[in-house]
Amino acid sequence: MTLAEIKSLDQADPLAAKREEFLLPEGVIYLDGNSLGALPKRVVARMAQVIQQEWGQSLIKSWNTHGWIDLPQRVGARIARLVGAEPDEVVVADSTSVNLFKVLLAALELRPGRRAILSDIANFPTDLYIAQGITELLKRHELRLVSKEEIDKSLDEEVAVLLLTEVDYRTGYRYEMAHLTRLAQQKGALVVWDLAHSAGAFPVHLNQAQVDFAVGCGYKYLNGGPGAPAFLFVARRHQAATRPFLTGWMGHADPFAFSPEYIPAEDLRRLTVGTPAILSLSALEAALEVFEGVDMALVRQKSLQLTDLFIQLMEPLAARYGFQLATPLEHARRGSQVSYRHPEGYAIMQALIAQGVVGDFRAPDILRFGFAPLYLRFEDVYQAVHRLAQVMQSGLWREARFQERAKVT
Ligand SMILES: *Cc1c(COP(=O)(O)O)cnc(C)c1O
Repeated sequence: MTLAEIKSLDQADPLAAKREEFLLPEGVIYLDGNSLGALPKRVVARMAQVIQQEWGQSLIKSWNTHGWIDLPQRVGARIARLVGAEPDEVVVADSTSVNLFKVLLAALELRPGRRAILSDIANFPTDLYIAQGITELLKRHELRLVSKEEIDKSLDEEVAVLLLTEVDYRTGYRYEMAHLTRLAQQKGALVVWDLAHSAGAFPVHLNQAQVDFAVGCGYKYLNGGPGAPAFLFVARRHQAATRPFLTGWMGHADPFAFSPEYIPAEDLRRLTVGTPAILSLSALEAALEVFEGVDMALVRQKSLQLTDLFIQLMEPLAARYGFQLATPLEHARRGSQVSYRHPEGYAIMQALIAQGVVGDFRAPDILRFGFAPLYLRFEDVYQAVHRLAQVMQSGLWREARFQERAKVT
């Protein structure tokens, strides 16, 4: 495809104007929105307002007058639309890891007598670590880790919970959520889906798929900022029976009664724990306004066009320099990222970042490129591949400075 043809794709893009709602550094092609979403302009204004007016002027009155106390549920309701849930089925609090601890423990409690947690051995480490911690705490479960191909046949009557991340963080492989949810439930298990690389990247249909529990991230495709609070989803049919175990005062039925006995809130507030992080929640709330009125089906369509184009333009480079595509070509099995394996992946990515194309690296050999359809142009895809070609042709990546490993990759 020629550059002129690619530019015409941008001209025809119904989401093109969304880019204007973000502050992006000049000259940088940002392909890491799957790790840390870009900064929406309205977040800057909202932060100034929350800090100067709400905190600075109204001080503690803001809990009531500016509705701070309801932010976890208000922001949850906004995320609900993006993941195919009802407004009262999502709440925002804590990190994805902590939310996973809460819902996994609650789900296991709903399946007494079953002793296995089944997951993908390639699942994101925090998901596996949390599951491991829970087995050590409860001392009556085993964590069964299998490959993607073995998930369905490993579902048996012993499995209490199937714990999966919809999109593999390394390869971008996307599971068939509805199908696996049905299979697990037919065996009497509950499902917990991690939507870290799904929410905001494409439409998710939690209720259509009859998912039981889910968690997800606020700082990736939702653009809530570094360390933004995460969300959790509990289907309505499970809410009354979902027991909180991190029983903090904010999950109490009446926190300001200051009663010595814990009684859980009727609604999902029971899965919140301590005082909400108002600054981060406000940033996330403003970031979610960018999604207002956005048709997520169009987001998916553009995401597939962007990733298809990238894979297509990469073909000659891949053949010449030994990049191995790790992402499925089949659309239904692909998230919103493209990954390649290369033995020198770390140094190549560092050199590419120095050339203004920001992706990231995941051990042992994965170069990862995330495509956030709200702020990426087709022309960016072209430029990214062009700069990678230069990095390879010049051998720039061989320089010693690109071999040094930083703390965060
Ligand atoms: C990014 C990511 C997380 C992040 O967890 P935090 O507790 O918010 O740091 C969790 N799960 C998956 C699959 C992720 O990709």
